[in-house]
Amino acid sequence: MTTTLDRIRITSGSGGPRRERDTDPGAAQRGRAEGLTYPGRMATTRGSTDDLGGSAPGPADRAQVLAALREHLPEQAVLTDHDLVQGYRTDRAMFCPAGMPLAVVLARETAHVQHALRVASRFGLPVVPQGARSGLSGAANAIEGGLVVSTEKMTEVLELDVANRFVVTQPGVLNAELSRHVEAAGLFYPPDPSSWEFCSIGGNLGTNSGGLCCVKYGVTADYVLGLEVVLASGEVLRTGRRTVKGVAGYDLTRLFVGSEGTLGIITEATLALRPAARRPRTAAALFASGRAAAEAVAAVVAGGHQPSLLEIMDSTTLRAASDYLRADLPADAAAMLLWQCDTGEGAEAEVRAIGAVVQGCGGEVVEAADQAEADLLLAARRCVLLALERLGTTLIDDVCVPRSRLGELIDGVARIAAERSLVIGVVGHAGDGNMHPTVVFDSRDAEQTAAALASFDDVMALGLELGGTITGEHGVGVLKREWLAREVGPVGLRVHRDLKRALDPAGILNPGKVFSLAD
Ligand SMILES: Cc1cc2nc3c(=O)[nH]c(=O)nc-3n(C[C@H](O)[C@H](O)[C@H](O)COP(=O)(O)OP(=O)(O)OC[C@H]3O[C@@H](n4cnc5c(N)ncnc54)[C@H](O)[C@@H]3O)c2cc1C
Repeated sequence: MTTTLDRIRITSGSGGPRRERDTDPGAAQRGRAEGLTYPGRMATTRGSTDDLGGSAPGPADRAQVLAALREHLPEQAVLTDHDLVQGYRTDRAMFCPAGMPLAVVLARETAHVQHALRVASRFGLPVVPQGARSGLSGAANAIEGGLVVSTEKMTEVLELDVANRFVVTQPGVLNAELSRHVEAAGLFYPPDPSSWEFCSIGGNLGTNSGGLCCVKYGVTADYVLGLEVVLASGEVLRTGRRTVKGVAGYDLTRLFVGSEGTLGIITEATLALRPAARRPRTAAALFASGRAAAEAVAAVVAGGHQPSLLEIMDSTTLRAASDYLRADLPADAAAMLLWQCDTGEGAEAEVRAIGAVVQGCGGEVVEAADQAEADLLLAARRCVLLALERLGTTLIDDVCVPRSRLGELIDGVARIAAERSLVIGVVGHAGDGNMHPTVVFDSRDAEQTAAALASFDDVMALGLELGGTITGEHGVGVLKREWLAREVGPVGLRVHRDLKRALDPAGILNPGKVFSLAD
């Protein structure tokens, strides 16, 4: 094993990698919103705003709704200014319809959310719960004439219980902020989406977010002990517990996690914590083919190893990250695997044991010599989507397959890219079998756009064929709504609809997202 990343170095004089927290997600967000207006958008948008329900209320109703909202909400909590409201129309997904909401409610406390939902119920208005709008499926897109209820101002960490290892937080706290908060007390909140610096806990709960360390630590749902949720009626439901164990009643907590704002608005979460993670050891391996890298992943898992991170990047994503970070990553390799072990004193031996397995599968293994090299590799992985966005319009997929089928997925994506004459970068949480094949294309070119959309469907079909799922972590939203039925089947869809009707009989909460109530 090489003991330094001599093939993975920062170009001298570059000023070092640009850290993700230095990027301006707002700029990307604005770019996204602008991207939505490209010529031909309406022809290619998945569904239309009509599918989401809602319509602009007339002036009299409009005035009544706003007056009712302002009865119990502070003036600054109800946004109606066109330019300000415009900023709350979309998340970061492409090809998803979005309407112009009547108003955005910037809730600061549970009572504000309750009041907004009571008013919406009274007037039959659709309500879209919103966190930080970093979602990638259109789930947080506004609905014409409806309300957006944003929890971005609910930013308090309410309680940190070190003895019982949990934290109680409002939903607007950003993922990275919460992580830092608990880290200061020697604790660890593992779910860490790549977007952690600019996505909120509410959105993480809404989508059941994954991240880079799921391979060892699991996803958001694995850390949720209990929730406070405002139902469509305005009532407050408390689910779950503060104890390590507890099986009283149905697991309502899990029902809300991943429900994409269609069942209630989460106003507080009790999240389990772990003891602080130890500084991980990091290594990477370069491969001549994506298939070989995938086989190495299967071999690592089959060998009983437990990395705390196991990610893959192909040459397209390595090149994009290299340019973005002004680093010199090995973009001539067909694929790179990146892994970490955080077992403290045993980490070095574990990193090397995995290295031996990987080498046996044809990988050229390199170990991070110091923290700067490890940080660079992690920064490269985390920045991929932002790096690809600089090359053109991106359509990011999110399929997850059994780890033993990862090689077939990677080969299949290469075949789809060749058949459709497209560039599809492959990056993903290889250790979870969760890949993000990302099409990079010119959205001003109608033919390329149609091919990009078709390839997106091809990838989902392939994922299902391989025994996988259409979404590992980004959610269904609007982008994949038509595909949910294929995955869950008619009975599964009926049960989804029954649950929705039981909790939200008038269908005001994020209607048209995830599935439609009508056939
Ligand atoms: C560069 C980049 C990298 C990403 N990497 C990852 C990754 O590694 N893993 C991953 O899982 N995702 C990733 N994402 C997607 C996104 O960041 C996550 O889906 C995140 O959880 C969304 O959080 P948010 O606060 O932005 O929520 P939003 O986008 O505002 O909302 C997401 C969903 O949650 C619902 N919601 C929001 N707040 C509430 C609430 N209080 N109560 C009920 N429902 C609510 C919304 O209605 C919507 O359905 C990435 C996105 C980008 C742009």
